[in-house]
Amino acid sequence: MKIDEKQIGEIVKSVLANVQGQSSITESARTYQGVFETMSEALAAVEKAYKEFRSYTVEQREKMIAKIRKFTLAEAEEMAKLGVSETGMGRVSDKIIKHQLVANKTPGTEDLSPSVMTGDNGLTLVEMAPYGVIGSITPSTNPSETVICNSIGMIAGGNAVVFNPHPNACKTANYAIDLVNRAILEAGGPENLVVSVSHPTMESSNEMMKSPIVKMLVATGGPGVVRALLSSGKKAIGAGAGNPPVIVDETANIKKAAKDIVAGASFDNNLPCIAEKECFAVDSIASELIAGMQEAGAYLIKGKQIDDLVKLALVEKDGKYSINKDWVGKDAGKFLEKLGIQSDARLIICETNALHPFVQVEMMMPILAVVRVNDIDDAIEKAVAAEHGNRHSAHIHSKNVDNLTKFARAVETTIFVKNAPSYAGIGAGGEGYTTFTIAGPTGEGLTAAHSFTRQRRCVMVDGLHIV
Ligand code: NAD
Repeated sequence: MKIDEKQIGEIVKSVLANVQGQSSITESARTYQGVFETMSEALAAVEKAYKEFRSYTVEQREKMIAKIRKFTLAEAEEMAKLGVSETGMGRVSDKIIKHQLVANKTPGTEDLSPSVMTGDNGLTLVEMAPYGVIGSITPSTNPSETVICNSIGMIAGGNAVVFNPHPNACKTANYAIDLVNRAILEAGGPENLVVSVSHPTMESSNEMMKSPIVKMLVATGGPGVVRALLSSGKKAIGAGAGNPPVIVDETANIKKAAKDIVAGASFDNNLPCIAEKECFAVDSIASELIAGMQEAGAYLIKGKQIDDLVKLALVEKDGKYSINKDWVGKDAGKFLEKLGIQSDARLIICETNALHPFVQVEMMMPILAVVRVNDIDDAIEKAVAAEHGNRHSAHIHSKNVDNLTKFARAVETTIFVKNAPSYAGIGAGGEGYTTFTIAGPTGEGLTAAHSFTRQRRCVMVDGLHIV
């Protein structure tokens, strides 16, 4: 076996690191395919891979994607467990479902459809071409799901990807990057088509954003990262924060609404950006709805218990509330235990007013405030205010078409789910494909392969127009 200079260097570095008791960096760089110690190395590798990938056919792209789907299904449980153990957030059983959803319902190359114009002057063809190397920043809340979902869509579009994952979830994200590379290699694809760094930082993120190798940026996360990307001067897709309200009016099937809301708001401990995060219930049915939620597995807290929960789940500074990061995505039972209650409920519910921080703050915890409102107009006004103009997601349970339409028009969200749990909006129990990168701020909506392509026009004059 021949060993080149670079490999010798890596072995020397690894031995030195082991001797000095800091083996983790080189260990993960060695273990995971496509994961490099520095962003410069990652960028160089992905540039080379992209050049090679340019000569691959669409059929070959599809073969790689099929393998990524297969590997994801096979390792869904492993990634779900890793995600929960690394971040301390979410539920293994729900994360398995998220990985299965990504594997089965993320569109591949079938999402790319060229368009054609023909007429007296001949034929014009518009094709969807790759951007090149895409830089993708991923969140802690869906670390491996986002890596796999973006990889499928970006590769389907003919691109290569450099990831800068959330530092608190980088082991899980890098596991997924390794999985994607293993699948690509087994399908006969190039090495390092998807890359990352073992220890992502703001510096590695900046280097990635500024690199001339990277032609497009995609941010999946909170407002900070979307702002940073949109000021990069490059084509950027921003998938930002939400705070989805759910309305229940007097015409709804109240029992079903209660069940659906508990299912959606408790899914993966409310980590999904699309999950119901506050509920506005018309007064005449509010008590019935709350009773239905309790029947469906929610635990109702009252009075001082609510105040105690605020102190636990939120941080207050100068009258402003933000989330207590230590409690994001924790099981409802853990919160209840701190309140002196033993329960295996999946969701905590409480009645509050519309200005309560549980309503206004994007919690990402299995806690749902229910606000009584006078009627649908009152509900819409308060729900729109709570959504904060994110234009992300909103949901409603109603059989009144006028109410459904009025709320949809007023809230202007990218996803709007009627009479179902919120996850129906990303294809789980609802029609349509899935994505874990929902681009409200930049308007691509539910991203898929087509979002990661550029249009190219090819014009033939006086020919190929055959009628
Ligand atoms: P986060 O914003 O803390 O982190 C997201 C990523 O951005 C991480 O990789 C982080 O390191 C990076 N980052 C943060 N600030 C940055 C900056 N100024 N410059 C460069 N990089 C930066 O988000 P999180 O806590 O991991 O995830 C939860 C948030 O993401 C919620 O607000 C949720 O609504 C949102 N989210 C949105 C979508 C969507 O599709 N729209 C999907 C998942 C999560």
